[in-house]
Amino acid sequence: MIQTDICIIGAGPVGLFAVFEAGLLKMRCHLVDVLPQVGGQLSEIYPKKPIYDIPGYPEVNAQQLVDNLMKQIAPFHPTFTLGEKVKMVSRLDDGSFELTTSEDTVIRCKAIVIAAGLGSFEPRKPAIEGLEKYEGKDKGLLYMIKDPEFFRGKRVVLAGGGDSALDWTLFLANVAGRLTLIHRNETFRGAPDSGEKVFALAREGKIDLYMNADLQSVEGDGKLSAITFLDKDQQTVKIETDYLVPLYGLSPKLGPISNWGLALDKNNIQVNTLDYSTSIPGIYAIGDINTYPGKLKLILCGFHEAALMAHSAFKYVYPNQKPSFKYTTVSGVNEF
Ligand code: FAD
Repeated sequence: MIQTDICIIGAGPVGLFAVFEAGLLKMRCHLVDVLPQVGGQLSEIYPKKPIYDIPGYPEVNAQQLVDNLMKQIAPFHPTFTLGEKVKMVSRLDDGSFELTTSEDTVIRCKAIVIAAGLGSFEPRKPAIEGLEKYEGKDKGLLYMIKDPEFFRGKRVVLAGGGDSALDWTLFLANVAGRLTLIHRNETFRGAPDSGEKVFALAREGKIDLYMNADLQSVEGDGKLSAITFLDKDQQTVKIETDYLVPLYGLSPKLGPISNWGLALDKNNIQVNTLDYSTSIPGIYAIGDINTYPGKLKLILCGFHEAALMAHSAFKYVYPNQKPSFKYTTVSGVNEF
């Protein structure tokens, strides 16, 4: 079981910066994100795009901003649970909270900060009957790659034609025992340079590539053992495999957060703009996930919300202590 002062749901830019603001006030943070990496929308949707409205940076690449935030919070040693979704929140008798994730990780904390952005990114799944029977690491069907080493020496089929499918094809070509990529169109959606490299691997016989191929079915006795697809000539092809990883992109859903009894406005959490507290004492919501009159879904607005939230959360975490407000130019950044 993980124990911390504040559990932050969502490791996007706003969740990450909240660690810094909490750290200045000597509060420890644990972050949970359903994605296998930190950075939220910046790392998942637009890592290579430049951002122009971060104060002090005339231009900063999205992934660079995430990397800088990780550097900035390093002195406060945040801990992470990645690739898991927070599903349940309950209040314990002493007023603290217990959170449970999709993989049954349990986190106990004194306050919760929801920095869940657009919601939890859920994989788009192929429309194939009976797919759910094979979902999970032990059954052969995965929608995300957390640890590429897991596939070392295994037969793997990837499906998709976006950046994620291309990048993982390039990476796993040297890891998997046999790698196949099937894509339903005749061109890739991902970066042209990555597409060229994938075609080159296929020409060299290092991977099997099927374009214009339409995934039809999966089979196996308890564990996935083969997939079939219609090839470009509409012929049925069967491939024996250990794993199938459809990488059709992710779409955000509010998900379990909608069932926690928080006051909501459509898909956003209503907050008090004095401190970004929600309708449940001890639970705060910052960044894209919250709503209030005049709300702007911008990174810099989320950063501001994180600072005000931290000062209020301090009073919740340490009810008998007074928060002291000091400029970092005066106090410095005092590592834990
Ligand atoms: P997010 O970045 O959405 O991160 C939230 C995280 O929470 C996600 O990683 C998600 O997986 C996780 N999560 C959600 N629910 C759960 C759960 N139950 N359990 C576990 N994890 C969960 N803003 C700007 O200021 N300037 C720009 O130039 C700009 N350009 C943009 C360009 C594009 C293409 C897009 C899509 C957005 C742009 N934005 C820009 C908006 C900006 O990306 C968002 O304001 C910012 O990402 C919000 O940060 P966040 O941390 O609140 O949420």
